This record gives sequence, C-alpha cells and structure tokens, in this order.
Amino acid sequence: MPLLIIGSFALDSIETPFDKVEDALGGSATYIALASSYFTSPVYPVGVVGEDFPDKYLQMLEEHNILTDGIEKVPGTKTFRWGGKYHYDLNTRDTIFTELNVFESFNPVLTGKARKSSYVLLGNITPSLQLKVLDQLENPKFVVCDTMNLWIENNREDLLEVLKRIDVLIINDSEARLLTNEPNLIKAAAMIRKMGPEKLIIKKGEHGALLFQNNTIFSAPAYPLENIFDPTGAGDSFAGGFIGYLHKTRDLSFDNLKRAVIYGSTMASFCVEQFSTKGLEELDKLQIHDRFLEFRELSRFDDDE
Ligand code: AMP
Repeated sequence: MPLLIIGSFALDSIETPFDKVEDALGGSATYIALASSYFTSPVYPVGVVGEDFPDKYLQMLEEHNILTDGIEKVPGTKTFRWGGKYHYDLNTRDTIFTELNVFESFNPVLTGKARKSSYVLLGNITPSLQLKVLDQLENPKFVVCDTMNLWIENNREDLLEVLKRIDVLIINDSEARLLTNEPNLIKAAAMIRKMGPEKLIIKKGEHGALLFQNNTIFSAPAYPLENIFDPTGAGDSFAGGFIGYLHKTRDLSFDNLKRAVIYGSTMASFCVEQFSTKGLEELDKLQIHDRFLEFRELSRFDDDE
C-alpha cells in the first residue's frame, strides 16, 4: 500500500540573510514526499496546483519515483503561494504573504488506492481538511500529523478532533507551548498526549527533537551544520524521513521510532543546506546513511569510568 501524504504544493518566495528566490518549489507535501522517497515507495501525495505550476517540478517528483496522479492541476487557477523572510536567527521567520489561490477550494477526495493506505502523513493543512481525509481512510494503522500556530490559534476545535484520531503529532516547541498554554515542554508533552496522540515529537529547531511515548523520552541531537541557507521545509523533511523509514521497515517499536527520528533529523539537515527543495533533490542512500551514523556518534559516550 502506498504511503499517503496530504499537504500543500506551493511556489515559495523566500528571503534569508544570504539570498532570495521567487516562485521556488515548496509546499508541505512536496518536502514530505521528496524526503520519504529516499526510503520507500510508492509515495503518493495528494494535493492541488494551479495551471501555472511548472511541469518540470512534477517531472522532478516523478524522477524520485513519487506518484503524481494525486496532484490535481486545476485549469484557470493559480498555485498556492507563500512568502517568508528569515533574519540572522534562522530559527524564527516572518510570513510575508499567503495567497491561497487554488488551495482555497481544495477538497481532498481519495481514490481507491489512497483510501486503502495504512500509513498516512497529514501535512500542514487546515484541521477540517485533515478530518475529511481521516473520514475516508478504510484502514488507518499509523497516522502522523503536522500542524502550525495558525490552526492552533484559529481552528482549535477541529484540531482537537484531529488529535483524538492520530498516532503521532509532530510540532515544534513554540507550537507545543501555544497548544497547551504551558511553558514547560515536559508538562506540555504530557498534556498533548492526553489530548489523543500516543506518541509525540517536539522539534526544537537547531537544538534537536524530543520523542515522547508512555513514560519514556528520547532526545535526538541536532546536526551541527556550518552552512544553513534556507530553513524552509525543515519540519516537513523531518516528517518525510520519519514516516518514510517507518513505512519501509513496518516496525513501530520504540527502538525503531528512535531510528526514524534520527532519519527525520538527517533529512531536515540536508534540506536546510540549500534553497527550496534543492537540498533534497540529489541525495543518495549512502550519503543519508553516513549522516545517520554521524548523528549516532554525536551523542554516544562510554559509561566506563
Ligand atoms: P516548514 O518550513 O516545514 O514549516 O514548511 C514550509 C512550507 O510550508 C513552505 O514551502 C510553504 O509553502 C508551506 N506553507 C506555509 N504556510 C502554509 C499554510 N498555511 N498551509 C499550507 N502550507 C503552508
């Protein structure tokens, strides 16, 4: 069964202290699909683009063995556009504009093969659409969900419904605090898990990530990158590496989830090294595995005195 991914396809305009680009390939589903494609297939993203979405981007996705027949191109419309600006602290960004365009009327209707998917990643879209997708799934076994501050603030009721029906929530530290109104992340994590998801991942930007399950916490280090050019898509690449590895291995033990978190961190580290999706376009499995091993060395120590 395919790995089903729901999310946005976008043309992003991004400015960092180093450079700026306009109408570059972006969107949550794009990053998730690319990152997961290095681990598993078939990867099946479902989304919508406008007439202006360049065919070369669809071809690039196909070259990564990503199925593109779930990406609907709607005649006479424009693609979702998002503009973001980063300052010297690359952990924070300003949204300059959000033009929903074709995304405004996105109504995900799943085809037969998509409905049968048991591994599903609900990327960053409005919680009401995430619910619509959940309603159509015939046999969801492992549903991972991303969200953002916009939905936590404006669509809380729907988001709380989503949380009851998913297995893993992936959010960043500020979103966890916003969702719970609790400054302490450990307490916030316990509160979020009471809202529904058995497992929770809290990303801490360039400071790593925490995985929570039962009474156990796994702390993943951050990769000490010297060159971060564009943090856009880091969170989605994390999610893609995480679920791509789990879809391949079909092992949901805590030990394997830890490995999946490290593969997620690995894909996020490649993503931010270049603008837009470039850092995810030309990787190979050996490079990914080498960086995975570097992550292991980062926090390995000997307990012999
Ligand atoms: P990330 O940096 O992982 O949070 O994801 C960045 C991507 O999210 C960009 O490529 C944007 O196109 C996309 N994005 C930004 N805002 C939204 C939104 N409101 N809904 C869906 N996707 C969005």
